[in-house]
Amino acid sequence: MSELAPLVLIVEDELQMRRFLRTSLTSHGYRFIEAETGKLGIALARSHVPDIVLLDLGLADIDGLEVTRSIREWSPLPIVVLSARGQEEDKVAALDAGADDYLTKPFGTQELLARLRVALRHAARTSREVEHVQTVGEIRVDLEKRLVFLRDEEVHLSRIEYKLLAALMKHAGKVLTHRQLLVEVWGPSHANETQYLRVYMGQLRHKLEREPARPRYLLTEAGVGYRVKPE
Ligand code: CA
Repeated sequence: MSELAPLVLIVEDELQMRRFLRTSLTSHGYRFIEAETGKLGIALARSHVPDIVLLDLGLADIDGLEVTRSIREWSPLPIVVLSARGQEEDKVAALDAGADDYLTKPFGTQELLARLRVALRHAARTSREVEHVQTVGEIRVDLEKRLVFLRDEEVHLSRIEYKLLAALMKHAGKVLTHRQLLVEVWGPSHANETQYLRVYMGQLRHKLEREPARPRYLLTEAGVGYRVKPE
């Protein structure tokens, strides 16, 4: 990240929500630009090249999913979608189309800032070389040697368990949808076999979590997918 404060592009048609975002961002050192419509959002993303986009899914002209697809045609810049309750399918579709994360309205300033930090950090990291060793709390994965350690003791995982854990650890902090994980671990022909994930996530939690029923690291995002908590 440059010394300049990160520039956030807000694409949101509700005035109330824009006011809340403005206040939260400016009081925490972010700069912002705003678009009320999806089309203006796409234009500003191109002309101003922001560091991150906060994108409402329910816009008046074109929907946020279309905006996500359009930006992804030419840019990997991080996109955090803002969705209302009842927009679960749209949210998952936006993540599958390349959005990085989501916030469900209403959300607080702290939640907003945490999501922005993770997405910006993730974007900075993927633009550099991927680190071979990923550590999250008590779990350490050596992606080069394909070894997994829990509190410095090696843990033996099956091939599938390892692939699933590695996918999550490579993107620590970021939500991965069921589809994204299934495609990465089992391949495109198994993109809908959500029950595979439940089984293997259960196994991973038994091997890596102190309390598998109340996981600290391997978190479920209900109706969306899974996320490794980065601390
Ligand atoms: Ca809206």
